[in-house]
Amino acid sequence: MIHQLPSLKFDLNALSPVISKQTLEFHYGKHHQAYINNLNNLIKGTKFEDVSLETIIKEADGGIYNNAAQVWNHSFYFEAFNSNGGGEPSGNLAEQIISNFGSFAEFKDKFSKAAATLFGSGWAWLVLKSDGKLDVIQTSNAVNPIREGLKPILTCDVWEHAYYLDYQNRRPDYIEAFWKIIDWKVIENRI
Ligand code: MN
Repeated sequence: MIHQLPSLKFDLNALSPVISKQTLEFHYGKHHQAYINNLNNLIKGTKFEDVSLETIIKEADGGIYNNAAQVWNHSFYFEAFNSNGGGEPSGNLAEQIISNFGSFAEFKDKFSKAAATLFGSGWAWLVLKSDGKLDVIQTSNAVNPIREGLKPILTCDVWEHAYYLDYQNRRPDYIEAFWKIIDWKVIENRI
């Protein structure tokens, strides 16, 4: 099975100024593509050659795991954006956020703090646990919550390559802007 770069549902300049065309050209066009190329090369001739990305994430180690997780994480990250995103979720997701965090504002604050305080490279996540409760977690480097039995709902990439061209060292500014391009209809369908 050859893993492919998923197409974006928006133009490369559609998320500007939150995420510039230049950042997407590198982050999606170069970094995401490189993880896919690396994964395709690494799985050749191994037991992971013809299994799903999720199975690789659950079972592989080392370079195969790291690249598979980064492929999944980036597809999930880019899929969440839209030029007319922002606002707040509705329906079941909104109810569950209020029930677990008190309010959307409290959830947003907790998620933003997790993204801002993650040391080094990694990801902030909203996840659904096996007990049906939502949680906000951080993972380092490539680590994907599926590996830990959690269901990812929303993620923010805080590797420097995600924001440095647009925000330099101002990671909190990137995180604040991130909320303006979230397509909550996509996120609502993940729960
Ligand atoms: Mn990235």
